[in-house]
Amino acid sequence: MANEYSNKRILVTGGAGFLGSHLCERLIAQGHDVLCVDNLFTGSRDNILHLIGNPRFELMRHDVTFPLYVEVDEIFNLACPASPVHYQYDPVQTTKTSVHGAINMLGLAKRVKAKILQASTSEVYGDPQVHPQTEDYWGHVNPIGIRSCYDEGKRCAETLFFDYHRQHKLRIKVARIFNTYGPRMHPNDGRVVSNFIVQALKGQDITVYGKGEQTRSFCYVDDLIEALMRLMNTGDDFTGPVNVGNPGEFTILQLAEKVIELTGSSSRVVFRPLPGDDPMQRQPDLTLARAKLGWEPTTALADGLKRTIAYFDSRLSKSLPA
Ligand code: NAD
Ligand code: UDP
Repeated sequence: MANEYSNKRILVTGGAGFLGSHLCERLIAQGHDVLCVDNLFTGSRDNILHLIGNPRFELMRHDVTFPLYVEVDEIFNLACPASPVHYQYDPVQTTKTSVHGAINMLGLAKRVKAKILQASTSEVYGDPQVHPQTEDYWGHVNPIGIRSCYDEGKRCAETLFFDYHRQHKLRIKVARIFNTYGPRMHPNDGRVVSNFIVQALKGQDITVYGKGEQTRSFCYVDDLIEALMRLMNTGDDFTGPVNVGNPGEFTILQLAEKVIELTGSSSRVVFRPLPGDDPMQRQPDLTLARAKLGWEPTTALADGLKRTIAYFDSRLSKSLPA
């Protein structure tokens, strides 16, 4: 068994995805053994190619809706498509991934007495009527809309985590992640940051949905991963849920203008219909994260965007699909 002085065996589900690949990398750099479990639905081998061959890294192709029997000390449960385009592609599988995936990973954590962290989401607040969002807000979520497979799946996963904690004394951690961006986002996943950057680099129209007055708060990936790792290392009495993200709030139109400025693109903004149930505003209240994690995001939007633009620019120049 690992103790606090030795390296740990850590399972990262969804480890070949955007956030998961950064997390695997950071955990290996700390000297841990990482088992990356992924069905490669939205993730890819390219994201973890640089880790393959490292004796501390192992990739297992597996769908978390089926049981998994491995020996590990900690579990980061990230498996789930995260962009609206991807999670709405097969909504039934999305709910199964959140709910059956949580049951299977919690069952595994119970059997091997592992500590387990859930990558939950600001989507549990739905279209929030409290602003900024605090963890004690129960949310405003449509249970039958096109985003519900994701929102309600993640809400049910949180329920399961807290029931396993109360009923089986599992050591749990729940992070409510707000919009995060950075290198290794999927270029075609339809999320706003990747869409705008790819459109700007290709000189295509920038597609703003609705009037672009809706807001989001964007966190750079390195800051987010630091928060997840700190959360896993908090004392057993702290379960969360805890908001993690960047409180800097921007309208979608402001984001479009920023991307055009930073890429020097000649693209113009065009307006397209707003998708159903699209939340109007979103900003994390970080009071709890500051107190419990001693953490604060440090990357300004312009700096993070520059690094993300450089990533997509290099992909496009190598003619990788974008
Ligand atoms: P992503 O789509 O890049 O990564 C998800 C990974 O999970 C992919 O590698 C995918 O192949 C894998 N996966 C999907 N279904 C699976 C299944 N049934 N079995 C095994 N693997 C499966 O998305 P991401 O942005 O890296 O998100 C990671 C996690 O963080 C997700 O749980 C997401 O809900 C959560 N989250 C992300 C954000 C964000 O802004 N990026 C915000 C809130 C929450
Ligand atoms: N959005 C947009 N143009 C795009 C993609 C997204 O205006 O090409 C908007 C979308 O309607 C939403 C916001 O940007 O209001 C964030 O969308 P994303 O899918 O990135 O994340 P989420 O809605 O899940 O927060």
